[in-house]
Amino acid sequence: MYIVQIASECAPVIKAGGLGDVVYGLSRELEIRGHAVEIILPKYDCMRYDQIWGWHEAYRDLSVPWYGASITCDVFCGWVHGRLCFFIDPHSEDFFFNRRTYYGCDDDNMRFAFFSKAALEFLLIANKRPDIIHCHDWQTGLVPVMLFEIYKHHGLEFQRVCYTIHNFKHQGPAGAEVLTATGLNRPEYYFQYDRLQDNFNPFAINFMKGGIVYSNYFNTVSPHHAWEAHYGEFGYGLGHTIHLHQDKFGGILNGIDYDVWNPQVDRFIPHKFTPETLEDKQKNKKALRERLLLQHEDKPLIAYIGRLDDQKGVHLVHHAIYHSLLRNCQFVLLGSATEAGINNHFQHEKVFLNDNPDIHLELGFNEELSHLIYAGADFIVVPSNFEPCGLTQMIGLKYGTVPIVRGVGGLVNTVFDRDYDETHPPEERNGYVFYQTDYSALESAMDRAIGLWRYYPEEFEKLQLQGMAHDYSWNNPGEDYLAVFELIRHK
Ligand code: ADP
Repeated sequence: MYIVQIASECAPVIKAGGLGDVVYGLSRELEIRGHAVEIILPKYDCMRYDQIWGWHEAYRDLSVPWYGASITCDVFCGWVHGRLCFFIDPHSEDFFFNRRTYYGCDDDNMRFAFFSKAALEFLLIANKRPDIIHCHDWQTGLVPVMLFEIYKHHGLEFQRVCYTIHNFKHQGPAGAEVLTATGLNRPEYYFQYDRLQDNFNPFAINFMKGGIVYSNYFNTVSPHHAWEAHYGEFGYGLGHTIHLHQDKFGGILNGIDYDVWNPQVDRFIPHKFTPETLEDKQKNKKALRERLLLQHEDKPLIAYIGRLDDQKGVHLVHHAIYHSLLRNCQFVLLGSATEAGINNHFQHEKVFLNDNPDIHLELGFNEELSHLIYAGADFIVVPSNFEPCGLTQMIGLKYGTVPIVRGVGGLVNTVFDRDYDETHPPEERNGYVFYQTDYSALESAMDRAIGLWRYYPEEFEKLQLQGMAHDYSWNNPGEDYLAVFELIRHK
């Protein structure tokens, strides 16, 4: 099969969170299985050009219709760790992708509507006719809309779309001007409840809803989150739309790329280890302490890695720091916040705790350091309010770092409580789970985890090894996506 991914991120060249990892990891898995995969991305000024090989111009003067006129783009091409990527570079006074940031601009919906349009135009003009177009999140929600309303009539009639939702919270609301800009026009047609009209704001269209309505199949990134979005509050207003389209909806768990996230081959950690040489993990703990100037004492090290965002349960992240101190543990946080209030809060904490030899807060994005933390920590805490899949707990498991998680979304599908899980036998359990969002729920799970580390070291090691034995590679999800692609391809 010939598959084209259209996305706003691809790790490690463009990565703000899990989406980037998924686009890269899934593409790699599909190629290993013998399929041809190409990835279309925006050419951001702030992406990591050092991660691209063979950079060259692939297409010059691609004319993309926009507001009845057109914007000329160049398309660059290069390999990102073996994946063939195309980067769209518009020559526009709007400087769509030259903002020194991937997201967070007032006109994000226009930026990504343009990107979606340009990606389709590129397929059309460059004579690319993939079997499957796989697009991701609100940024590319208009891809199936424009494909089936416009491009189908110009030569892209056999392409089928799989639309993957990594986060329901951000849906891309927009006004009628997006319709005018993209050539969809006819607001009276698109501002219908069964098309793009937002379910709650009759004066807005919703990119994600468009992606759901028009795609041949759509999914979110874990089976449990698919259930939550359909029946619970985590569809963020799209529950009824999911319900109407439930026949083409599913939940496919993300995988992680074990060529990147694997303590046996990880080039960012000083001491590689395997389940057979788990004692070498201690050397990474020592290296981590040295790097972050933490004291060397016989105590557990708990970590948090992730965006600092309401989704991630920041009040519990904050509490986990102080509860670790109270229980005489060490805590390392690596995170970045886009919201000023949250950023200020953690900046303040960082200054306040600066001289504490048991705490380190690293505010910012640091891929290399994240590897060392996964390798050196004993526990990783993931207290999310909601979590479509969550990668950090799966990465932690591979590095023998025991997850302490809140039982929501994909965390339910991947972490099984050592003491209380009823769905898995004791030898398959791998971490600690709590359910409520109050402090005492988190504390009780942390206390059980710390207690095992302190008083039953052999049992703790057994739990680490059980976690390392789980297979959260792309192997199974790769097969699941291919089954979906096969299904829609013949429709
Ligand atoms: P989300 O997609 O909601 O951000 P995930 O758990 O799915 O969360 O994916 C997070 C990915 O981003 C992981 O690979 C994690 O290691 C990485 N990550 C998150 N924050 C940082 C950071 N500040 N520095 C380095 N890597 C980070």
